[in-house]
Amino acid sequence: MRGKMRQQAVVARAPKRLAERFHQLRTGHCRTEQYLEWTKNSDTAACGWCQYKTQTREHLLKHCKKWKMQQKTLWAEVRKATGRGKDRFTVPDLMADERCTRAVLGFLRTTKVGSRVGPRAVPPKPGEEGGVAREEGDETEAGGRA
Ligand SMILES: [Zn+2]
Repeated sequence: MRGKMRQQAVVARAPKRLAERFHQLRTGHCRTEQYLEWTKNSDTAACGWCQYKTQTREHLLKHCKKWKMQQKTLWAEVRKATGRGKDRFTVPDLMADERCTRAVLGFLRTTKVGSRVGPRAVPPKPGEEGGVAREEGDETEAGGRA
């Protein structure tokens, strides 16, 4: 019963960005291409890293060729912590198991999974984020009128 508390404590100690990605991955609101397709932000659900036809959480954590090394580390740690290999874990199981929290955080830290920086990261649209144009600059006032 105290498992949830401990997991939250571990995640809370992680850097904020990393903790966010962990929660997104846990709730399924991760920035995967499949999710982007559902939200109509992308015209394809294929993995932008390896071109696999659907980029799901399962794909990113177990199969994506781009992150093979990191997956190996992740699942070795999971096996050490739980005695179960990746074939015995679904993504929801993995994310809910507090013994795997550190391994998953480590995986996220060493990959770009779920972050905004990806091969298909959508640049912010003007006026959306960081696209605020300064129309009235200081210069006009300072040296404009004669
Ligand atoms: Zn992939």
